[in-house]
Amino acid sequence: MEDKRIISAALTGNWGNKSNNPAMPLTPTEIAESAYECYQAGAAIVHLHMRDENGNPTMNTERFRQTIALIQEKCDVVINMTSSGEHTLTSIASDDARVAPFLVLKPEMSSYDCGTVNWMHKTIFENSPQLLEKLGKAYQEVGVKPELEIFDGGMIYTTLYYLKQGILKAPLHYQFIMGAPGGMDGTVNNLAYLRSLLPEGATWSASGLGAAHIPIMLAALAMGGHVRVGLEDNIYYEKGVLAKSNAQLVERAVNIMKAAGMRPATPNEAREILSIKR
Ligand code: ZN
Repeated sequence: MEDKRIISAALTGNWGNKSNNPAMPLTPTEIAESAYECYQAGAAIVHLHMRDENGNPTMNTERFRQTIALIQEKCDVVINMTSSGEHTLTSIASDDARVAPFLVLKPEMSSYDCGTVNWMHKTIFENSPQLLEKLGKAYQEVGVKPELEIFDGGMIYTTLYYLKQGILKAPLHYQFIMGAPGGMDGTVNNLAYLRSLLPEGATWSASGLGAAHIPIMLAALAMGGHVRVGLEDNIYYEKGVLAKSNAQLVERAVNIMKAAGMRPATPNEAREILSIKR
């Protein structure tokens, strides 16, 4: 049987801009072009954040709509919208603003951050119980598959609580983000621990930030997981060398998979693996 693994490309994120890496896509056109290049390179999912005219994070529905339309003109890659937009050093969008874009645009997937984090030791990345309830219910209402973003082990227990409450529905899909200051370190032992906590039938993907990127990718593939790459998580290709594009990071993941007898899942195969109904 073929060993298919999903590559998710996190193109932009809330942090960093062209002064950190000139390849960071910020406008709808740039983000859509980067998404298409990643799809061509082998990504099945693109995880999207929007920026306003000044490059600041925004949850503006129209900007999401415009970007998604440009992507869908060219390919059928799975669209995964963030719900953590407008998070800056001093503020984060209101709960209603974080929920609003999905209710209108009904993407196939969207992120669900399973707890509050002292983000980068600088600011509070707030995901209150009230937001998680609202978001979980809204996703079910419009048929969005939640991507459960996990920054440390306790967050998995939070997802099990919401599963029991019916706020989340099985099968669950987890995205481990490891090595973010304020969250769990990006080590292979930590990855094995996180995986050991998952409920039966769950699927999972991992991404290590910075120096943890390659070790976590290799370990995730060896352990049967899927992977996420992209400039949201890593502006560098290797120590001291900036990545040339999101697609370059996707290409490397594809090459590693192929060397190990695996291949990247197509968007439709990813939909099947994740039980996404279009
Ligand atoms: Zn994100």
